[in-house]
Order: sequence, then C-alpha cells, then structure tokens
Amino acid sequence: MRQAERLRHVPAYPFARWAVHCREATARGLDLIRLDAGDPDLPPPVEVVERLCVAARRPTGHGYPGYRGRVELRRAIAAYYARRFGVSLDPEEQVVPLLGSKEGIIAFQLAILNPGDTVLVPDPGYAPYASGARLAGGDVVYFSLREENGFLPDFSAIPDEVARRTALLWLNYPNNPTGATAELDSLTEAVEFARRYDILLCHDAPYADVSFGDVRPPSLLQVPGAAQVAVEFNSLSKTFNMAGWRAGMAVGRPDALALLFRIKSNIDSGIFSPIQEAATAALGVDERWITSRNEVYRERLEILQTSLSTIGLETSVPRATLYLWARLPPPTSAEAFALRLLNETGISVSPGTFFGSSGEGYIRVSVTESTDRIREAARRLGSLPTGWARDELPPKTNY
Ligand code: PMP
Repeated sequence: MRQAERLRHVPAYPFARWAVHCREATARGLDLIRLDAGDPDLPPPVEVVERLCVAARRPTGHGYPGYRGRVELRRAIAAYYARRFGVSLDPEEQVVPLLGSKEGIIAFQLAILNPGDTVLVPDPGYAPYASGARLAGGDVVYFSLREENGFLPDFSAIPDEVARRTALLWLNYPNNPTGATAELDSLTEAVEFARRYDILLCHDAPYADVSFGDVRPPSLLQVPGAAQVAVEFNSLSKTFNMAGWRAGMAVGRPDALALLFRIKSNIDSGIFSPIQEAATAALGVDERWITSRNEVYRERLEILQTSLSTIGLETSVPRATLYLWARLPPPTSAEAFALRLLNETGISVSPGTFFGSSGEGYIRVSVTESTDRIREAARRLGSLPTGWARDELPPKTNY
C-alpha cells in the first residue's frame, strides 16, 4: 500500500494499540476495569445536556456552523478566562474554538512549522505534541521532565545551540501523565526562555480545572506579556466531562491564531451549532459543580494511591489531573508490567512509555471509572500476593 512519507515517522496511536490488548483480554473472559484512558465517566452538567437537546430539536442550526465559531461561544471563552484566570482576551482576535484540543494541537503545527524546524517536546508528554510536529516535517527534540525537579522543565539543561534553532516549545500543566502542577513562577520562566530565543510557546492546559482543595492551577496567559509569545490550548473535555462532544479552544497570540484559523478553515467546518450553544452554557456553569466533581476524583485517587502503595508502587495523590503516576520497582518494564496487570487482574493502566522513553519504569493510572469499580480495582490489587509487583513469582499462564 502506498503510504505518505510523513506518516512513516508517526507510529500508531499508543492507545489504539492498547485497545487491541483490551479486546483480547475481554475475549478471554476478563472483566476489565479501564484505568488507561483519561475519559471522564461522569456526565456533563444537566443544564448543558438540556441546552444541547433544545438546540438540536430546533429545525434550524443543522447546517454548516460557520468557520469562526459563534460569537456567543467566543465571548463565553473570553468571559471564562477573565473570571477564572483574570486574563483578558479579545474574542475576535484571540480565541479560536476547536473540535477538541487534540486536533488543534496537530493543526497548529501544520500551520506554523516548516520541514526541519526544531520543536521542543516534554518527555514524558502527551503524544500529539510530537506527532503533530512530525506530520509537519518538524524535528522533535525531547527535554526530560524529571521527578527530582517536580516534573518541571529545566531550561538550563537545554543546550544553547538547540534553543537557538527551536521554532516551537510545548508545555502542559497540570501535567499529563505525571500530575505535576506548575506555579506562575515556572510559567514566567518559560515565557522568558521563549522570548530570549524567539520561540513560539504552546501551553496545553486541559486539566486547569481538575484540581483538589485550594489548588488553582494558573493559565500561562497570566504571565504579563505572555499573549505576545504564546498560545494556550484548553478544552471542555475534562473540565465539564464533555470529552465526546469535541469542544476546545486555542487562545492568546493573535498572529499565530490567525494562521491556525486559516488552516482549520481549509480542513474542517466548525463545531455543530447545538454543541456550541451547549458549550457556551457549560463555560458559565457554577464553579461548585466543578468542585464537587473534583471531590469524586480525589476520593478515587486516594483509594488507588493506597492500594498501589501496598503492592510496592510509589505514588502520591496529585494536586491536579485525574492521574496517578506510579513508579514501579526497578528494573520492571512498564509495558510488561501493564500487560501482566491486565492479564492477571483485568485492570488496564497505561504503560509510562506511551508518553515517551522517560516514562519507562512508570505506569499512569486514570480514575475515570465509577467509584465502585475503582473500589473493585483496589480489592483486586489488595488480593495480589506479596512481591507480585517485583515479579518474584512466576507469571500466571493459565488465564
Ligand atoms: N492535552 C492533553 C494533555 C490531554 O491529556 C488531552 C486528552 N487526553 C488533550 C490535550 C486532548 O483533549 P481533547 O482533544 O479532548 O480536547
């Protein structure tokens, strides 16, 4: 089969590959608990679903929704940024609605990069940063996020010669997969680094509103002047449990967003109008809805943190995100461990290597199954024999 050269450098999406193992395990009769993907199990706010239904029942609004996104949605995004982060955005020049942030992350790089351009990508990190860069012909250079640095970037470890030729730099806080959060001073350092080397800074912040207690993760655009050098990607997927709706946004630097708009208007035709209407309603939802939803995640994270620790995996409840990033006893291979866990307990987690080579020795455990199923996962983990995680026992082969 003919294949585009650009696709040769982009492997199969790791979660699509993992789904095959899950199907096989189900076919063998295992009752799977899916803690691999970050796909919220709870519904969006009731009034948001209502708005969708009302809008969808109207005879109008089923045509092409327009390229720019409804002005009401762009204003609601700007109002959300003003209320939540104290960031002022011009809804005309500084807001581009997206079909979920994943497509925006890819489309943006196609709009910005030339073949051979260097793109700095965090390792571990969300896979589309690198795959989008590669689809655009970019040259991906990874920088490590290390546990001893709180999984924050160490800009002093990036060689001057690399920084000088870098076109674009990706950051993501609160972080997938590590659960790390960045304070405004780290984001300020990133903006200064981008400015010093004339790098377009991209910050991906879909977990900014999945945080616990008093933690209020900042937007990068809170850094004074950031909107001159940076674009921030955000999403309704996790904030409002709307992952299947495909609604996100890119905000910030106007000239970069104009290019994103140009490429997107050539590729897609916008978000279904009733979804835009409901997304507008979501962005105005009372924050208490978000807080009580986050409490559900926190309880689940605590349950699993305890049982993972009991079997010898080091992890702590994060300040934000819906993930535990758990360190395996060395020298365990992440993928081998995750497969063994899947096949012996029916619990599906993500091998850390899905997020880059620095993810070796870790697994990512997501808490997007019901609390009852999370308790069942904890029960299964609790019934594993001592030493199981260290592979001291021969693998079971009769499943
Ligand atoms: N960025 C990060 C860091 C993510 O974890 C995800 C989803 N897992 C996305 C972007 C994409 O979200 P969506 O396309 O649903 O907006």
